[in-house]
Amino acid sequence: MAMLLMTPGPTRIPERVLRAGARPMIHHRDTDFSKVLVTTLAGLRPLFGAAGDVIPVHATGRGAMEASICNLLSPGDEVIVCANGRFGEMWAAIAESFGLMVHRICTDWAAGADPSAIENSLGAHPRSRALLVVHSETSTGVLSDITAIARAVRPGGLLVMVDCVSSLGGAPVCFDAWDVDVAIAASQKCLMSSPGLSFVALSARAWESSMTARLPRAYFDFRTIRNALARSRPETAGTAPVHLFFQVNEAISMIHEEGLENTFARHEEMGRMVRDWAGENGFSFQPSEPGRCSPTLTAIRVPAAFKAEDIREALRRRGILTARGLGPYENTSIRIGHLGDIRPLDVQRTLETLSEVITELAV
Ligand code: PLP
Repeated sequence: MAMLLMTPGPTRIPERVLRAGARPMIHHRDTDFSKVLVTTLAGLRPLFGAAGDVIPVHATGRGAMEASICNLLSPGDEVIVCANGRFGEMWAAIAESFGLMVHRICTDWAAGADPSAIENSLGAHPRSRALLVVHSETSTGVLSDITAIARAVRPGGLLVMVDCVSSLGGAPVCFDAWDVDVAIAASQKCLMSSPGLSFVALSARAWESSMTARLPRAYFDFRTIRNALARSRPETAGTAPVHLFFQVNEAISMIHEEGLENTFARHEEMGRMVRDWAGENGFSFQPSEPGRCSPTLTAIRVPAAFKAEDIREALRRRGILTARGLGPYENTSIRIGHLGDIRPLDVQRTLETLSEVITELAV
């Protein structure tokens, strides 16, 4: 039997999506591909909560993060980064690699990004150009409150860039209502597809910044991508990973068939199942605020009587793959992904097996 991927991405690809990707090659300048490209981007807009531009970036999520930085910022720019997990740290490291001055805040790997800490940082660094934050921090299972965060920075006129890699398609992303400037998604999480393709929603402010930004960009130039999309037969800049588009397009159809609200409710239910099990079995959670648990993954903290690695290994031997904790929680947490094509029955099987495993390990 195939391993059940209860990891927070990549995750199981549904049969329908696999089949959609198993098609003969078509040329990326062909009308047929153009239709798939247009349908994919149109289908993504409601997932982003964005009426405006959503563009593809032919790279995994990290590439789209790098692209967002090099398209909107200039050498020497100051940025505030909420570094409350591995992927917040990733924002900071990419910005630093481009020579930007990074102000790291919110470095607690159990808490959400804190709007008042952001306001304070903005007061201390009034020349900051952007705030970089992660919506669902995949290393911790914390979901940050982007509405409050965007409100806190708006008076400073900062560009707000949000990594939605592990939330888009599993939790509401409200690009327009949040009034943010960049939101990023990737194919291998709630979009239920193979890794390698990302999408970026951009505001009018983001496009304005891209016109004057001076960091080097070539492959990742958003203006080139937009120009190709604006042709009478919309295209990608350069060769498109057409089979990835076939997959994502099919996955988006599946999400719309299920209905966005139903999809979000399913993710909420699965998160609740894991949290209930943890509470009943003496496990706590990495997120310190109960209201800030991501609906797409849960990082559970293992009681001192167990070793996290032993539990994961015993699950793996029973055909269930989970992810290890990261950073300060590497030896004490287990991350369970419940996103994309994962259903409550998969979660139930995982939790029943977990119960078996801890009973066995306790003797
Ligand atoms: N941001 C978040 C929140 C992620 O979970 C990941 C990957 O797990 C990334 C960024 C990096 O994306 P990728 O591994 O697709 O490059």
